[in-house]
Amino acid sequence: MTIQTTDRYCPICGKDVAEANFKRFGEWACSEAHAEAYVNDVRARKLQMVAPEPRPADRPARRGCCG
Ligand SMILES: [Zn+2]
Repeated sequence: MTIQTTDRYCPICGKDVAEANFKRFGEWACSEAHAEAYVNDVRARKLQMVAPEPRPADRPARRGCCG
């Protein structure tokens, strides 16, 4: 098990992360724009995990319940 503390790569574009200003969900992004893009990506995955089969007729669409 290797813990890498020096190698940080943006999960969006894969570039080296030089600044430690854009950390989201334990991942470092190269810029605020990519940090937000990563946040959106993680949220989308969580939604898929929670509701793998969307059933619009069964439940109303709700957003923003979890902050
Ligand atoms: Zn990036």
